[in-house]
Amino acid sequence: MTKELERHAIVVVGGGPAGLAAAIGAYEAGERDILVLERDTQLGGILNQCIHNGFGLHTFQEELTGPEYAARYIALADELGIERRLGTMVMDISADRVVTAVSSEAGITRIQAGAVILAMGCRERPRGALAIPGYRPAGIYSAGTAQRLVNIEGQLPGREIVILGSGDIGLIMARRMTFEGAHVQCVAEVMPYSGGLKRNIVQCLNDFDIPLLLSHTVTRIEGRQRVEAVWIAEVDEHMKPIPGTEVRYPCDTLLLSVGLLPENELSREAGVELSPVTRGPVVNESLETSIPGVFACGNVLHVHDLVDYVSEEAANAGASAARFVQGAIDAGDGQRIPIVATDGVRYTVPSSVSVTRMPEALTVRFRVGNVFRDHYVSVYLGDERIQHRKKRVMAPGEMEQITLKRAELLAHPDIESITVKLEEE
Ligand SMILES: Cc1cc2nc3c(=O)[nH]c(=O)nc-3n(C[C@H](O)[C@H](O)[C@H](O)COP(=O)(O)OP(=O)(O)OC[C@H]3O[C@@H](n4cnc5c(N)ncnc54)[C@H](O)[C@@H]3O)c2cc1C
Repeated sequence: MTKELERHAIVVVGGGPAGLAAAIGAYEAGERDILVLERDTQLGGILNQCIHNGFGLHTFQEELTGPEYAARYIALADELGIERRLGTMVMDISADRVVTAVSSEAGITRIQAGAVILAMGCRERPRGALAIPGYRPAGIYSAGTAQRLVNIEGQLPGREIVILGSGDIGLIMARRMTFEGAHVQCVAEVMPYSGGLKRNIVQCLNDFDIPLLLSHTVTRIEGRQRVEAVWIAEVDEHMKPIPGTEVRYPCDTLLLSVGLLPENELSREAGVELSPVTRGPVVNESLETSIPGVFACGNVLHVHDLVDYVSEEAANAGASAARFVQGAIDAGDGQRIPIVATDGVRYTVPSSVSVTRMPEALTVRFRVGNVFRDHYVSVYLGDERIQHRKKRVMAPGEMEQITLKRAELLAHPDIESITVKLEEE
């Protein structure tokens, strides 16, 4: 027997910080019929395993742990009576916004959504170990899996640790494993700069005398049953190991922290256009994807460094979704202007803007492709430079932002593009 199609104004896919803030943002924008679908048995997403502090400095001006930060949003969602279904995995989203989900309690459910908000987060890149010769013995973990084992399951994955990749999770796990009594020998990073936040390098490595080996990589893994040692070599500017620089590190565990990727299968299958740079959906000023009425926020859109920005962005996505179902988003696109990222700027979110649909001030976030010292972030409307702000250091691990003002764009009615770039002077 085919179940009847359920209907909800807004369906949020994922109950992590992005999904929760999006649902609350939609509620605050006047929408009441909101349903959050979460595959896990609890809300909060990745924050539940991030028991270190450092969350919420911007949002609450307090240093919270991940679970504490999540708890604030869960409490607010409870207060507002936002409906959620846990243990419910979304399997498919169609271009006409029919969401198919499965749970052990309800079986397969099909929901016609007025608007869908994608908030599925990201997953770890598995790439690190694949290019390393040797057997695949026990003792190789992604840093996030190790974090889950230690912080949620209460298991220590090993005692002598080498970490490949200096993304934030790797840095945080270097400190965490040290706290748990393991010995972290080093963090090797193939790039000449770390992929993580500066504050994590200081607080998680420097404070514990854990060496960060920049321009180094793992070239060999020893051991058949269990990791016995890894070999680390320096790399040249083409990231090729330099002969004669290999050093053997006896260890029982290799943690991989080689980056995060938006969880984009559902988005891709729905037919949402994806950015080749962020691997998340291409969105406009309303955080709306290429499918009308499908919005995206949080790490599924682009990998964020701070959860505060996730919450802020997601609240905007929620408000936009509410406006969409209320018919308040102008269907006509007005004048749509592409935002071009160039000269050191890898991408921008959003990647285009409609002057008629944008708010008075629009935050545009981006990441740079290298470490830049004493460079200017410049914004051009056509040929005219309208912003020129010097920054002492910009690094790929930290997100940057500019603000576009509607009034300024209205004063330039003929421009065909907005350019965000880095300049030396
Ligand atoms: C190890 C680590 C350390 C961090 N440290 C800090 C820090 O110190 N300070 C800071 O500010 N930020 C930190 N962050 C960043 C911050 O935690 C993330 O940016 C934030 O959690 C992203 O939120 P999200 O909701 O987009 O994704 P997630 O938290 O990953 O949530 C996504 C949710 O979607 C659910 N989901 C996915 N697919 C489906 C599906 N098909 N159906 C149903 N549900 C689904 C998942 O189960 C999950 O609950 C850290 C992140 C990590 C990984």
